[in-house]
Amino acid sequence: MAERIAILGAGESGVGAAILAKQKGYDVWVSDMGNIKDKYKEVLLHNEIKWEEGVHSENEIFLAKEVIKSPGIPETAPLIKALKANSIPVISEIEFAGRYCHGKKICITGSNGKTTTTLMLNHVLDKAGLKTVACGNVGKSFAAMVALNVHDYYVIELSSFQLDDMYDFKADIAILLNITPDHLDRYEYSMEKYAASKFRIIQNQGPEDVYIYNLDDPIIRQQNNKLKLKQKTYAFSQEEQLTEGAWLTTNKQIQTNINNQQTNMSIHELAQQGKHNAYNSMASSIAGRVLEIRKEIIRESLSDFQNVEHRLEHVASVHGINFINDSKATNVNSTWYALESMEEPTIWIAGGVDKGNDYTMLEALVKSKVAGIVCLGKDNSKLHAAFEGLVENIWDASTAEEAVGLAYRMAKKGNNVLLSPACASFDLFENYEERGNQFKRAVRAL
Ligand code: ADP
Repeated sequence: MAERIAILGAGESGVGAAILAKQKGYDVWVSDMGNIKDKYKEVLLHNEIKWEEGVHSENEIFLAKEVIKSPGIPETAPLIKALKANSIPVISEIEFAGRYCHGKKICITGSNGKTTTTLMLNHVLDKAGLKTVACGNVGKSFAAMVALNVHDYYVIELSSFQLDDMYDFKADIAILLNITPDHLDRYEYSMEKYAASKFRIIQNQGPEDVYIYNLDDPIIRQQNNKLKLKQKTYAFSQEEQLTEGAWLTTNKQIQTNINNQQTNMSIHELAQQGKHNAYNSMASSIAGRVLEIRKEIIRESLSDFQNVEHRLEHVASVHGINFINDSKATNVNSTWYALESMEEPTIWIAGGVDKGNDYTMLEALVKSKVAGIVCLGKDNSKLHAAFEGLVENIWDASTAEEAVGLAYRMAKKGNNVLLSPACASFDLFENYEERGNQFKRAVRAL
């Protein structure tokens, strides 16, 4: 009898794990407490994988020698606790797939910028002609890609939830972009626990592996100092002039030095503008050079990389007013970078579900850049309390259309209208994509 693997959650990650486990000869049981999407049911049926929905049948699940848990299921769920109490190991799909991966694993985490950097670096590798794929928290699951077994490089976006159930997995190259408050509700409101989860990205690394990190991030710096790092490390910084890694020179060049090989390019050449994207580009440039990709290819890729939707996406100019969609900014830090990159007075559309936000870090930027605020959420009281007195007009809207209309009325020619909510979207919208799409539709209807 084949050994059983139970998989909890049948989304992208769970179904990917199921395909791989089946391929490796396990007896696979997929269980989802909610409804499984039709497209995933088809995949499960096609692969002759057993599944259930709307229930977790303990008699089936407890037969497993190991359980793979989707990142959406919290540690505190009663079933997870019961499994652990019965000494049944619970791992993530990434941990499982890592056992069967023959290619190089380049892993990216951080509070913000994961998707952008994953796609950016994958673009660099792709342009260099390598057999590469972007996966993990973006697009296809890592496990499904490992099952395909056609790639030499896996550029993997990892959320902290995925990192939590990783034990023996090792990244060949690990990139840590930043650590700022987010999802603290899943970490007992402890920044230390959240940071520890992000640092799992470098666990198990040895001298032959590479760790690329943001030196300007105080939490990363502090943690690094506490650790005895065995791997090769490269820092990137916009505040310090380094001699290795990547840094910003006084004349706004991104300088990269890996193994005494210099690469440089002006930040104005970057396809993705803004201080945050300069960080993402530095991380990508270091990783590219570590993989010995030609400088010309790196420069070319960073200057023509097109980001995905909803991240500081220019929508349209209407009567000289620029509309920008940054619906993916679901925490205060990502909004900080959006406001920081505004070069004209800005009408800022903010709000939604607040994850315990502290708005004080935005005060100075709001004073200098924001001409008016439109609050787009069910409960806008915290935004009012934080910014009343700093800006003249703070108006409330309850639909994207209304918010765009009010912002358009407030704005003067030459101004920007920026949707960068600093909050989650599920009070008024299905998800951040729907929020961004409704915003874009309303702008185009003007
Ligand atoms: P993630 O996958 O980590 O959520 P995204 O690339 O989807 O990150 O970007 C999320 C939001 O954060 C967007 O609003 C984007 O403009 C902003 N952002 C992108 N890169 C960074 C960065 N390095 N630091 C801070 N904010 C960033």
